[in-house]
Amino acid sequence: MKASLDLTNDWHAALRSLLEATAPETITSFHVRTARRIAPWHTTTVTLLGDAIHNLTPYRGMGANTALLDADDLFMALLKVHRGDNELIPALHAYETEMIDRGFRAVEASLQQMQQVHREGKVANALRELVSASNRSTSDFPEESDHATPIGAALSAR
Ligand SMILES: Cc1cc2nc3c(=O)[nH]c(=O)nc-3n(C[C@H](O)[C@H](O)[C@H](O)COP(=O)(O)OP(=O)(O)OC[C@H]3O[C@@H](n4cnc5c(N)ncnc54)[C@H](O)[C@@H]3O)c2cc1C
Repeated sequence: MKASLDLTNDWHAALRSLLEATAPETITSFHVRTARRIAPWHTTTVTLLGDAIHNLTPYRGMGANTALLDADDLFMALLKVHRGDNELIPALHAYETEMIDRGFRAVEASLQQMQQVHREGKVANALRELVSASNRSTSDFPEESDHATPIGAALSAR
């Protein structure tokens, strides 16, 4: 908290008052992780959706929305099977093809947004100084952290 206030002593008073009003015990941190694109797998009766396959950074607010689109597409695929308009495996394969492409385009877009936020502008510079001040290597600061979800990696390896 002290480092944040020191680094922002020339910022607008209204913004600094927000920092000053922050209770230190409410500050938390979390690791930002992002999935690595994986190749389509041989379709079976087991499939994936949402964060289980394409978890992404929070920088575009797309994770829940993408998961909901997956759920809707999967529902429509299963409905076609239920109505006798398609067989199960081809229906799931079509779902997975669309879901993998959409999901990883969202992953890549949010990663790009994260890099932009943390590499450009005054806020990025201040944050970098903050990390240095807290004796961490700048390379530890929010760069992408490749992370294949365990289920995704297992499917990809099949
Ligand atoms: C801090 C934060 C902020 C976010 N902000 C946004 C935002 O603004 N906009 C946005 O679109 N997205 C946002 N997201 C991302 C979003 O929350 C996720 O992308 C979304 O919840 C993924 O949905 P999901 O159903 O795939 O997975 P989850 O929501 O993780 O659901 C998985 C469920 O499975 C359950 N589960 C796990 N293992 C088992 C098991 N073995 N047996 C039974 N149940 C199990 C879990 O308890 C959980 O309920 C945010 C995420 C975080 C962490």
